[in-house]
Amino acid sequence: MITNELLKKYACLAVKIGINIQKDQMLVVNSPIECKELAREITEAAYKAGAKRVIIRWSDEIVNKLFYTYANDETLQEVPDYLVDQLKYIVEKNAAVISISAPTPGLFKDIDGRKMSLAGKAMSEKTNFYRKHMMADGAQWLVIAAPTYAWANKVFPDLKKEEAFDKLWEAILKACRVTEDGDAVKEWEDHMEKIARYNRVLNEYNFTTLEFKNSLGTNLSVKLVKNHIWGGGGEKAQNGVFFAPNIPTEETFTMPDRNGVNGKVVATMPLNYMGKLIENFSLEFENGKVVAYKAEKEESTLKKLLETDEGSNRLGEVALISHNSPISNMNILFYNTLFDENASCHLALGNAYTMNIKDGNTLSEEELIKRGYNKSCEHVDFMFGSSDMEIVGIKENGEKVQIFKNGNFVF
Ligand code: ZN
Ligand code: ZN
Repeated sequence: MITNELLKKYACLAVKIGINIQKDQMLVVNSPIECKELAREITEAAYKAGAKRVIIRWSDEIVNKLFYTYANDETLQEVPDYLVDQLKYIVEKNAAVISISAPTPGLFKDIDGRKMSLAGKAMSEKTNFYRKHMMADGAQWLVIAAPTYAWANKVFPDLKKEEAFDKLWEAILKACRVTEDGDAVKEWEDHMEKIARYNRVLNEYNFTTLEFKNSLGTNLSVKLVKNHIWGGGGEKAQNGVFFAPNIPTEETFTMPDRNGVNGKVVATMPLNYMGKLIENFSLEFENGKVVAYKAEKEESTLKKLLETDEGSNRLGEVALISHNSPISNMNILFYNTLFDENASCHLALGNAYTMNIKDGNTLSEEELIKRGYNKSCEHVDFMFGSSDMEIVGIKENGEKVQIFKNGNFVF
């Protein structure tokens, strides 16, 4: 069982390294009701670290499911003003935001995808200002995970309920480098320095294009935007505070050119999208756009994702992760992007991060798009790394540099 002490360490890591809460700053925690113990520990850790006020926004996926099941189309598209006001308040107060992810995989599998996209679209239109604020790192934000029984059962189907739950906690904490005797905060400081080094080296090369190849059939050329910036590990929010938006994280990532992706990519892990599991899929790109796709399972869900809007069938992120990483070495499929994306190189369909291009946070959206930035209300990561992945970078002068050999960074 997870001890109180471990939970405290995890909460402390979230507050100190994750969002690096500042004296008198407000903290908002988006927490599923199942994670109340963790939410309470985070609250205490935040107050002890100087937070002015901690607000918990509780949620419940079962209640959400009932909404999608019973609400009519009109109601699905209604976004209550008070919800919008709440987000405005969070932005105005420069609050840091921690979101605890404790999903129930497959919970929404019987829900009409059309209804979910109606509601999702209405919500993202009304709250676009908030998404923009967060994606541009207006203030510190963090996503961390906690297990649910249903999630644990999905990951460890052969174990008993409690056993699976404990084992998932164990795996989560291991992935986050939280141990009984270790100093997680110190370990994270070192880990982030390593990622910062990858960023520095890649930024120095300033590649125009990356070429990916493996035996599964991936043969993909990804043009990078001019003046792209490799980021990952920690970053600086617009309020000047250094923070780590994902715990765990192993990735170094940048911005592909929305018009410059060509070839085929074969996914190496299932994709959990809107509670549905898209399995064994591949995408083919031409001038940035997906022109063909295939999935053994949930192809219609993949189609829905690709057809959400103008940008959801183009790439907004390319991320590099050595195959030899703690998460990948555990050899567990978490059915959760936060972990699985850190096991493997990945791409994201949809919105790009403005931090990945020079002056990204000050350029107008129009100007950004001209430079190859992709805009979408989606940002969905999928994994395509493998133990035999080869990556070559092409420099501005045409020189080729090997970046990955047999799935790992060469430097
Ligand atoms: Zn990523
Ligand atoms: Zn991503």
